[in-house]
Amino acid sequence: MASTSDFSLGKVDVALSPRERFEEFLQARGKRITRQRRMIVEHVSARHEHFDAEQLLADLRNTPDGAAASRPTVYRTLGELVDAGLLRKMVLGGRAVYEHDYGYPQHDHLHCTACQTLIEFSSDEIVSIRDAVAARHQFRAQGHRLIITGLCANCRSTRNRPRHQDRI
Ligand SMILES: [Zn+2]
Ligand SMILES: [Zn+2]
Repeated sequence: MASTSDFSLGKVDVALSPRERFEEFLQARGKRITRQRRMIVEHVSARHEHFDAEQLLADLRNTPDGAAASRPTVYRTLGELVDAGLLRKMVLGGRAVYEHDYGYPQHDHLHCTACQTLIEFSSDEIVSIRDAVAARHQFRAQGHRLIITGLCANCRSTRNRPRHQDRI
């Protein structure tokens, strides 16, 4: 599959393209990849952004192929893409947010509760703490999710501090 990514954390190699993996998943459940499903999987796996279902629907409707995208199909397909391991779903302040996960490195998020910005980071220290905690419980970790909530630098400077004046 052509690499169109400018994902900030880079990407990891995967054996199947997202569409192939989705087709496999659907086949195992006796379903077929319809044209709408294919269009949605191509669309979400070509970019790495955080989006909700309504944003995706609006985006799709702006594309020539997606003009007729239906809301029920988009919601149903999002659920299938999560189950297939292609998308990751996070609930932030009661809102379901999705991101392309397949072929993208493990990472965690800082979520600004004021402006809803999501900042991605990956930390080896967190991974080693995770593995140490897991080992203490005779557990082998395969993944984790960490969302740090708070205020981003922007919101902190506009909300909590007087604006800095240039000093002479
Ligand atoms: Zn903010
Ligand atoms: Zn992310």
